Amino acid sequence: MSQNRPGLVDAHCHLSDLDDIDAVVSAVRTAGIDRIVAISMDLPSMRRVLELHRQFPDLVLAGLGHHPAIAVTATDDERRACRTFAREHAAEADLIGEVGLDYFHARTEASQGQQRAELEAYLSVAADARLPVNLHSRRATRATVEVAIDFTRQTGLGALLHWFTHSAKLARQCAAAGVYISVGPSLISGAEQRKVCASIERALLLLETDSPQPFAGEPATPLWLPRVAAAVAEIWGCELEEVAETTRVNFGRYLRQGVPATRRERA
Ligand SMILES: [Zn+2]
Repeated sequence: MSQNRPGLVDAHCHLSDLDDIDAVVSAVRTAGIDRIVAISMDLPSMRRVLELHRQFPDLVLAGLGHHPAIAVTATDDERRACRTFAREHAAEADLIGEVGLDYFHARTEASQGQQRAELEAYLSVAADARLPVNLHSRRATRATVEVAIDFTRQTGLGALLHWFTHSAKLARQCAAAGVYISVGPSLISGAEQRKVCASIERALLLLETDSPQPFAGEPATPLWLPRVAAAVAEIWGCELEEVAETTRVNFGRYLRQGVPATRRERA
């Protein structure tokens, strides 16, 4: 960190999909961002995030997963290959994700059942490897919240719902169950999202950009993270430094909770 404030953590970023990763990596270091969770969506991106983790070990954390919107159109063989890869490489990763439920892309009962089964398989990889999970949900919000609550109750491990600013009621349910929520660029201009953000338990809130997912017509970049943090500071009525410090502590707890003390140092 070059600044006197704690570094920000981007808890959900498709780093392997960015155009000029080297440029982004050097820019984030001077922009007050010192950790990026590179999550994956398929087999090539799982390989890529592990490479990025090896290349930038002090900056990039690796998440292994098969995105539900992609897995739904994959073949059985492709799904199996992804699950096998995630299981075999879990020891090299920091978390499991992006996995979850996406009923926008899975509209039949059969495809939704398959998504549930796929998600269960990744949750068991996470439980066995003592890794936290990073969850996606679309049109399956309630079901995903239930999965997150059960996972964290049963394993003691961290569960994070990413870009989850849909419902203050569900945010409060997550707060009661110790489920983490990450908020992203939609806070910069979204009044509704800001209201939901205010309902998220402060000790469970993380920041993300979901880069390079476009937002307001532009591809997001981890460099937007200070603006997301500034929006949270406005909502909380505090300085940005306090948001950075709180979310940083939260992130450490999310990564390490449920991990035996002897293995905590790896996170
Ligand atoms: Zn994502």
